[in-house]
Amino acid sequence: MTTESRSEFHTDDNRPYYSYGAYCRFIFGRQMQKLPVSAGFTCPNRDGTKGTGGCSFCSNDAFTPSYCDARQPIARQLDAAMAFYSRRIRPDTGFLAYFQPFSNTYAPLEELERRYAEALAHPHIEGLVIATRPDCVDERKLDFLAELAQQTYICIEYGIESTSDAALRAVNRGHDFAAARRAVEQTARRGITVGGHFILGLPDEPDETLLDRVRTINSLPLTTVKFHQLQILDGTRMAALYDDHPERFRHWSAETYIELLAEMLRRLRPDIVVERIVNQTPPRFRSRGSWSNLRSGDLWRMLEKRLLEKKAHQGDFLYLCNNVRPQTPEIH
Ligand code: SF4
Repeated sequence: MTTESRSEFHTDDNRPYYSYGAYCRFIFGRQMQKLPVSAGFTCPNRDGTKGTGGCSFCSNDAFTPSYCDARQPIARQLDAAMAFYSRRIRPDTGFLAYFQPFSNTYAPLEELERRYAEALAHPHIEGLVIATRPDCVDERKLDFLAELAQQTYICIEYGIESTSDAALRAVNRGHDFAAARRAVEQTARRGITVGGHFILGLPDEPDETLLDRVRTINSLPLTTVKFHQLQILDGTRMAALYDDHPERFRHWSAETYIELLAEMLRRLRPDIVVERIVNQTPPRFRSRGSWSNLRSGDLWRMLEKRLLEKKAHQGDFLYLCNNVRPQTPEIH
């Protein structure tokens, strides 16, 4: 898939935002399900290359589904994930392999080629979504992925987390926003689909600042975004910081969080697909300061209802302010 599909805005479901479902129907002609797999890689913020403690919010055990086991071959992981989803999806759903935990371009190129080929050899897999850090790609890896993207769907999903260097330092991210911009632009320039992952509610980030930062997000050649609330999970360094300085954190109710999201989406370029708005972890991972009884589907419904109440939709604030359709950034 190339940038041709990246910059189109094709929504067929009348939602007041560009849904991932509509995007998949446009690209693949049907619903797609991402199947998480683990390639068994680590990340430079854990192995000592950038740091050893990792990002202060990170809890890979909580963020990784239980059927995603790096000790198993990729094909078996995909089978297990398909079995998990089989009762939850429509029979005509297609599948993408989602290299999810840790940094999935953080290995020698030959190793990456082998692991991606394993996933693509699975008879039901129609493409790859590869989650990684912006500082874990280079020209060779991107050139290889660009070639692969000529044959099958490839999306690289970068953990950008914040557009603010101060916020990235505060969570011990180990890279700045310039690294994210560079990686996103180099990837999009090669015709590879790019996703961006952002955490809302990092320490010392008021809602007004988050709203303002959507302008920076709009300046990136992204196809998809994922937003989610900061989850402060037991055992993380973020939890210790929260216990010592709760005043540095946002204390959103579900309603105030939805209000913020609605306003962010009103400022978001309408051609960017909104893939996620919330993170959920299994109940055994206890978290502080967040609502736990609402599921992702509930929050999507709340968001849609709130946008309709406001008679608003994704990007409408940009039209109101500029009276022009905002453009996907040119990349040279
Ligand atoms: S969030 Fe990602 S980059 Fe940060 S420590 Fe965890 S695996 Fe590494």
